[in-house]
Amino acid sequence: MAKRDYYEILGVPRDADLVVVKKAYRKLALQYHPDKNPGDKEAEEKFKEAAEAYEVLSDADKKARYDRYGHAGVGQSGGFTGGMTMDDIFQQFGDIFGDSGSPFESFFGGARTRTRSRGQRGGNVRIKVALTLEEIATGVTKRIKVKKQVSCDTCGGTGAKDSSSVQTCSTCRGAGYVRQVRNTFLGQMQTTVTCPTCNGSGQQVTANCPKCKGQGSVAGEEIIEIEIPAGVEESMQLSMRGKGHAGTNGGPAGDLLINIEEKPHDSLQRDGMNLIHELYVNFADAALGTSVEVPTIEGRVKIKVPPGTQSGKIFRLQGKGLPSVQAYGVGDQLIHVNVWTPKKVNEEERELLEKLKEMPNFHPQPGKSEKTFFEKMKDYFK
Ligand SMILES: [Zn+2]
Ligand SMILES: [Zn+2]
Repeated sequence: MAKRDYYEILGVPRDADLVVVKKAYRKLALQYHPDKNPGDKEAEEKFKEAAEAYEVLSDADKKARYDRYGHAGVGQSGGFTGGMTMDDIFQQFGDIFGDSGSPFESFFGGARTRTRSRGQRGGNVRIKVALTLEEIATGVTKRIKVKKQVSCDTCGGTGAKDSSSVQTCSTCRGAGYVRQVRNTFLGQMQTTVTCPTCNGSGQQVTANCPKCKGQGSVAGEEIIEIEIPAGVEESMQLSMRGKGHAGTNGGPAGDLLINIEEKPHDSLQRDGMNLIHELYVNFADAALGTSVEVPTIEGRVKIKVPPGTQSGKIFRLQGKGLPSVQAYGVGDQLIHVNVWTPKKVNEEERELLEKLKEMPNFHPQPGKSEKTFFEKMKDYFK
């Protein structure tokens, strides 16, 4: 039998846009839905025909080929294989009846598409990983032993004692869903819901695996290599798909969620991508100038403290901070100068200080060249 024209099937003009195509299909899908026409072969054919037409006309690429070459343009070579199964069609409903506020979703799609997944997804596993600033600066690979539910090796995760103890579900005869009569806004209709006996798997286990007691998973552990990128921060969360608890009855594993913690550093503090070091110099060195070693993330470096350096001065070591986790740019190291004031003095020191007090240059003489606190803050943040 020759195929009907897709535009004809949906009853839309050749220049119909996606909105019009969707609307037309939605109408036909409702009209010919098998739940509304139980046992009606003709309705089922029309339902499939409409789904096929929609699949082509809702896809700009396929539509263009169809407009040019007709059915041949969307045949085998065009990526459309023709034989859509009912399941494929129900999957498609996510597209046209997708938004959760839609009344259609409650009686279309939902229950059917869920029948495909056997068993339950495993839970997520959360771990904490504490990192030093050095590890954060370069990125690091950690091998961590994670305690979690692992797939039972006795039954291979099925939860069944052996292959003869897995049988087709007697409630749904393997379909994974059962029909129910429900009242909807379109009147009373048959709907399908996930089979309560087998939870949609279509199978029943008659004898449980002795090791996992039918769960399909047992308490265990796995050594997992976690690649942590450079530049991560305290309380960031990384995730590794499928590295969490094993699923039950063949369901997929959950995820491993990794919470980053920063170990405090002896002499460096983090401020975003910048690192801050508090440098203390004695008053004579600040006045006469000196060179001192300061710690950086890559080891110690020497810096010059010029004569006349005031407390509060900030030196900047460009590019000695941390990399951005988005892999662009590197922060700086800021060295904050603190001129040390003696907290207690002995007799000799006291005499010297008394003498210094008489010297003209020891009196504070802040001039225009001294930066104010606000100016320093501006420097710091630029
Ligand atoms: Zn088992
Ligand atoms: Zn069942």
